[in-house]
Amino acid sequence: HEKIGLGFRRTSEKLGDNLSGLFTKATLDAETLDGVEEALIASDLGPAAAARVRDRLEGERFDRGIDEAGVREVTAQEIAKILMPVAKPLEIEAFPRPQVILVIGVNGSGKTTTIAKLAHLLMEQDYSVMLVAGDTFRAAAIGQLKVWAERIGVPIISGKEGGDAASLVWEGVKRGTAEGTDALIVDTAGRLQNKAGLMDELAKIRRVLGRLNPAAPHDVVLVLDATTGQNAISQIDVFGKEAGVTGLVMTKLDGTARGGVLVAAAEKFGLPIHAIGVGETLDDLRPFDPQEVARAIAG
Ligand code: GDP
Repeated sequence: HEKIGLGFRRTSEKLGDNLSGLFTKATLDAETLDGVEEALIASDLGPAAAARVRDRLEGERFDRGIDEAGVREVTAQEIAKILMPVAKPLEIEAFPRPQVILVIGVNGSGKTTTIAKLAHLLMEQDYSVMLVAGDTFRAAAIGQLKVWAERIGVPIISGKEGGDAASLVWEGVKRGTAEGTDALIVDTAGRLQNKAGLMDELAKIRRVLGRLNPAAPHDVVLVLDATTGQNAISQIDVFGKEAGVTGLVMTKLDGTARGGVLVAAAEKFGLPIHAIGVGETLDDLRPFDPQEVARAIAG
């Protein structure tokens, strides 16, 4: 899992930059603690996680004062504690079939790529997968998902640009049921500039799904772009309540210095984190290992 370490390297370096120059005194005084807390907030970990680390540092007894390595160690431990309860892979249940997974997120978040990666991951686990190109507002999104479907070798239900997404979903469930498909992954429109329209669309998909199977959608996965930092947090705020999000995937954690936002999201919302995106290829959707991620960020 070298890629995880590499993926969070810039985040870890940024933490180092923010912590540098703080440990000039022999004792851990209030001023130094303030500095550490600010450094953690500036590293996108969020105020709650930063306060937790501060509390831990206050409670620790350090014989020879505290240094950056000591702060990183405590930070890694606290991050792991925050991440552990939210690390939950997307489970495919034996019943009902197909399990309907709605994937939502703003354009550019990495939604289409994540759907392809997720389909690939599930197929590797011997599940059968079908895709629905429900982002009918963008011809490019339909085309891109079709290319992925062909590359992975999964069936895809798609229509014309501007078509009715809910009827595609209907078709997907009908066909998935007939074929005994395990997972039906549905792409959805991601126009944040038109929140009301987007929510209407999701509501319509839900209504249609509910008529076929009261339990559907079984999962509503929100895809977030880590490079947007605190913006990702406000997206969980908006979508989480209105769209009934059941889990998260955070993308583009490779190469960003803002990976700390993953911790802030976990702390603030407690929503399951299914996986993380660390690159553009099919294999770059990684299971979310809290210890490994905590070490990569703070280590
Ligand atoms: P959508 O508009 O939300 O469907 O976004 P796309 O799936 O088209 O992704 C937008 C861009 O982000 C594409 O160039 C993807 O290759 C890229 N991308 C998606 N996920 C990741 C990731 O985890 N890491 C990196 N580096 N790029 C990603």
